[in-house]
Amino acid sequence: MCPLGGPLVDAPGSLLARGRMVCHCLLIETPSSGLVLVDTGFGLDDMRDPIRRMGRMFVSLTSPKLDRAQAAISQVEALGFQRSDVQHILLTHMDLDHAGGLADFPKARVHVMQDELDEALDPKGIGSRERYKSAQWAHGPLWSPHTPSAGERWFGFECARGLEGLPPEILMVPLSGHSRGHAAIAVQSGGMWNLHCGDAYFHHGEMEPNYRCPAGFKAFQRIVAYDDGLRRTNQGRLRELVRAHGREARVFCAHDATELGRAIES
Ligand SMILES: [Zn+2]
Repeated sequence: MCPLGGPLVDAPGSLLARGRMVCHCLLIETPSSGLVLVDTGFGLDDMRDPIRRMGRMFVSLTSPKLDRAQAAISQVEALGFQRSDVQHILLTHMDLDHAGGLADFPKARVHVMQDELDEALDPKGIGSRERYKSAQWAHGPLWSPHTPSAGERWFGFECARGLEGLPPEILMVPLSGHSRGHAAIAVQSGGMWNLHCGDAYFHHGEMEPNYRCPAGFKAFQRIVAYDDGLRRTNQGRLRELVRAHGREARVFCAHDATELGRAIES
């Protein structure tokens, strides 16, 4: 399992200063399912035409660092693989900073929660229209939508197991709130579970027993949430997971540069 990512966005780290955010993706090598990518970050097409692909508001608010070397496809190829080796993509959700690289892996099967796919393909309201960009899936991905498996639990969380074409060590854990069908992706590797929490939280301090979060991140999460009450409830459940099962399950989110640094070092 290999963390991919880089400094991609300057975003409000506090009310007075801008902080650095990353797009933390995962590349997983499996014995029978080829390479599996968790989230895609920005893609090469986003870098060629950022305003059309991501919208003027996002680009002017976040000043994304559009460096081709940091695109997932560039990092996959730098590791000696080809784009066709990536057979599966799992998306925590379909926001433009997570789904932008789909077109760089046009043959991959794309796993996502059914609620998220429904909202992204038919966005309701201005908030959804701003966050989902149909140009990013205009190539027609092979979608694999999922709903929680009846009776299945992962550390007490509902989950979707038995994902088409994927080994049982990879599953999806619905964590709605940030977006309608947001999910975390759980990957078992070396006897440890790794949980890519996407945008369920933004700062490592939010997972500490004494919750702390820069004011800018806190406000941003509240403003962009599909359902802020549900987001905060699920964030609390993650904090409890870390408290009770931190030795068995390691959690990290999509945009925290500190967590990406730790993952690269380990
Ligand atoms: Zn994001």
